[in-house]
Amino acid sequence: MTASHYAPDTLLGRYEWHARAACRGDAKIFFGAGGLVDIARRVCGSCPVRQQCLDQAMRLESGLAHDFRFGVWGGLDPKQRARLDPDVRARSEKRKNVPRYGGKPLAPCGTRGAYERHKRKREPVDDACQAAYDEYLAARSTRASRKAAA
Ligand code: SF4
Ligand SMILES: [Zn+2]
Repeated sequence: MTASHYAPDTLLGRYEWHARAACRGDAKIFFGAGGLVDIARRVCGSCPVRQQCLDQAMRLESGLAHDFRFGVWGGLDPKQRARLDPDVRARSEKRKNVPRYGGKPLAPCGTRGAYERHKRKREPVDDACQAAYDEYLAARSTRASRKAAA
């Protein structure tokens, strides 16, 4: 196995299960794209320590989005592992619940963006949005008076 710190570095024998890994000495396919991923998955499919390997990946990559995960571990590619991660799932649930307009998330209440939206749509302005807007105005006038004094 090559010495990428993202690899399930089974040749290092750091864990007792490394000695039984089906991928010992064969790292490259685990970090390639496209067809290699399928080959890697097949090797994992017959690996007796697949669960240990996946558990280790889930620990090492805990909370990371899929684009910060690399290679095939325990038979799963980065996207599949990210989907299994409870923190990543919670974050994506949260994003799903954000109201959207034209594909973009709407600014949540309590922001200047939401205040301006309420005004544009002639909606009543709630306290949180009013407070965010007042804060913005106060910051703007502080900046303006600093500039004038300079
Ligand atoms: S599950 Fe796959 S990556 Fe993990 S040790 Fe086995 S063969 Fe290697
Ligand atoms: Zn609001």
